[in-house]
Amino acid sequence: MKVRFSTSDPPEVIDPHVADLAACLARSKKTVVITGAGISCNSGIPDFRSSDGLYNLVKEKHPNVVLKGMELFDAMLFKDEQQTRCFYTFMAELKTLIGQAQPTATHNFINAMKDKGQLLRCYTQNIDCLEAESLDQHLVQLHGSMDKVHCTLCSASYDFSAVYQDQFRLGEPPLCPKCETNENERQRLGKRSLAMGTLRPAVVLYNEEHPNGDTIGLAQATDIKKRPDCLIVMGTSLKILALKKFIKQMAKAVHANHPRTGRVIFINKTKPTKEWDAVFDYEVMGDADTWVTLTEEKWLDTKALAAAKVRLRETIKRQEEEEEDKENMMDTTTKRRRKRAVNDTTAMKATTTTPRTSLSSSSSKTTITIKKSAITKSSSASAAIKKQPLMETNLDGWIGRTRKRGKTA
Ligand SMILES: [Zn+2]
Repeated sequence: MKVRFSTSDPPEVIDPHVADLAACLARSKKTVVITGAGISCNSGIPDFRSSDGLYNLVKEKHPNVVLKGMELFDAMLFKDEQQTRCFYTFMAELKTLIGQAQPTATHNFINAMKDKGQLLRCYTQNIDCLEAESLDQHLVQLHGSMDKVHCTLCSASYDFSAVYQDQFRLGEPPLCPKCETNENERQRLGKRSLAMGTLRPAVVLYNEEHPNGDTIGLAQATDIKKRPDCLIVMGTSLKILALKKFIKQMAKAVHANHPRTGRVIFINKTKPTKEWDAVFDYEVMGDADTWVTLTEEKWLDTKALAAAKVRLRETIKRQEEEEEDKENMMDTTTKRRRKRAVNDTTAMKATTTTPRTSLSSSSSKTTITIKKSAITKSSSASAAIKKQPLMETNLDGWIGRTRKRGKTA
């Protein structure tokens, strides 16, 4: 059953749905959460696609560089020296904003799920690390993190310190300390100089691969095998191809392993396209924090939760009855088909027992042979389907922020 509602709809309309979702989350033991920029907007970090705020900060220092919000996150900018300087200034300003930001109700909600032992994993597209408070191993940062910087040459990793931030603000990437030490040592030994790397924020840009792609791919495959019972997708407009594929696989795992009680929930200010009709059981239009608050209120409302439990039981009973009816109908159809087949065979025997020309006898034989091979083929095909794993577990690693040019995050 598909349910769509908006958090701004009248309470009498949305109350049962909110209660059903609250009950579903209360009983979940393995929830997977996937988050996007939408869940951080209330903490003061603008959505880079729609906001000019950050870009305006950069404009003062680099008045001649024309870069739109999305282009500031595209690896292509490294081809242009001015744009690269602009990128570093932008990252410094973004770091300041992140430093001032506080986790929202949604971030706290995810943390609480982890504390209650209900969170299998949180996958985030956000680089602000606001989920990171206590999630630790339960967090996978799909697009990297603004907590770290790494060397463009040797991949050495360091904390994104205030000193580095000041250098980035001037558009000057700092030299990599490890490369610098190696170079000093070479000079001391009288060896020739080698190239030295610079530091950059450890975020994954569009059109570049995630350095930890294999690890992320492994985490995704492992989580799918762990039979998640609930998937919540929040604050993302579902435009990144790799993420879309992953959400669909995770949703399939929830539905296949928990056909009666597994739920896939989408919460965002904008509606998903038709492509997602069969993926999400619930589409909640609105602010993620508002939905979280409504859900937490329902958790305290024992009467509403009890009613939701009864509704779920009734739905399951109805589903079982429908399935039983379907099976009965199939049985009747099979019996009819069998009866027809028996009649056909009797009729055929009657025809073939009559002495006829050799041509007719051989043609009837050929027909039977074809039927046999068709049966063999179809039964081996169905065996192959049965043998297929439930999910495509080899996710080939996470390929980062790949996207079709011109599309948004
Ligand atoms: Zn280095």
